[in-house]
Amino acid sequence: MSFDVAAIRAQFPLLQRDVDGKPLAYLDNAATTQKPQAVIDALIDFYTQCNANVHRGAHHLSDEATRRYEKARDTVAQFINAKHREEVIWTSGTTESINLVANGVGQLFKVGDEIIVTELEHHANLVTWQQACKRSGATLKICPIFDSGELDIDAFYALLNEKTRLVALPHVSNALGTINPIVEISKKAKQKGAWILVDGAQGIAHGNVDVQAIGCDFYAFSGHKLFGPTGVGVLWGRKEILETFPVWQTGGEMIADVDYQDATWGALPNRLEAGTPNIAGVIGLGAAVKWLSKLDIEAMQAHEQDLLDYATKCAEGLEGMRIVGTAPNKIGVMSFQLDNAHPADIGFILDKQGVAIRTGDNCAQPLMKRLGLPGTARASFSIYNTRNDIDQLFEALKKAKKMLA
Ligand code: PMP
Repeated sequence: MSFDVAAIRAQFPLLQRDVDGKPLAYLDNAATTQKPQAVIDALIDFYTQCNANVHRGAHHLSDEATRRYEKARDTVAQFINAKHREEVIWTSGTTESINLVANGVGQLFKVGDEIIVTELEHHANLVTWQQACKRSGATLKICPIFDSGELDIDAFYALLNEKTRLVALPHVSNALGTINPIVEISKKAKQKGAWILVDGAQGIAHGNVDVQAIGCDFYAFSGHKLFGPTGVGVLWGRKEILETFPVWQTGGEMIADVDYQDATWGALPNRLEAGTPNIAGVIGLGAAVKWLSKLDIEAMQAHEQDLLDYATKCAEGLEGMRIVGTAPNKIGVMSFQLDNAHPADIGFILDKQGVAIRTGDNCAQPLMKRLGLPGTARASFSIYNTRNDIDQLFEALKKAKKMLA
């Protein structure tokens, strides 16, 4: 199987549009990815052919909706190599997945316990643990990075000890693109008896996530960064740990038996999925994963690497441009600064040229402070991007440079 980018692009209707008469170069994939026709079709088909509530109706449509909904769980479980399908818990996204873990294991934290996160965190995987520590009296430890954005692994080992209850870190940094050594870190964390949570919001779209091979306890991700709909995500967790989680939200679907004064809880996964779920979203996410699974993952990764290498080379040729985040192991993200230019101004001028990027703190304010930056401009790549998109980016950057000089 070879990787035919033109054929892939053709499946994304939104990429065919222009912006103010300019072809769109969509380079904001770390914020959210575009959706292939297969996902859009799955959503339309659900709403036009089988819209009904799941797990409860005594009729054909409800049965069919339930079948499609639960099939999506199988698809996702297989995609990440979960040992049990009920280890896949539907959430609204990475943020909710992390909060669910904080509700689950965070309630066991106590004074003297230590939680390790890294300087790379997205706010979702930092503030949640700050709050869990404040509630419990546990101490939050921050593993440093080098200026390149690479994790200081020796510093991590120095922080890790018998008091560590949880290590929570990103698979891939949304701000800098650093890929963290999550297999090695999971192994060391487990040796100390700590739980390990991987924030997979950025890691999941780049393929080859095998939760058993990683060796973590929890892996959290969002559907919308994986070519799926917004408002749906996954918490994967080891069954034996999820089973110990106290109930999270209460209501329909998550119960076994209810009396006026008390209730008992159902089994996983329902126990952690109260209320009517995002049925269409789940089915759309299943379609996205099915679609992605048909691609040649190695060829896809090679393509993404080529885009990053090409963009990095172009950046080296543009005077006054500085890449932020130069870890040797990185993917998908080029954060940068231009001399004398505020990131917001860069974003504005690029937008006028049809180039969509993100600017600002990238939801990682402490990281920006650590790097001594007000923020960055961030171009982030996906499998449907081409070198043409990057050429368009650099043409626009040259204009921005002139205008802001
Ligand atoms: N963690 C990381 C690394 C992210 O990139 C994001 C999204 N930018 C999140 C967490 C939060 O994801 P969501 O907003 O989809 O819940």
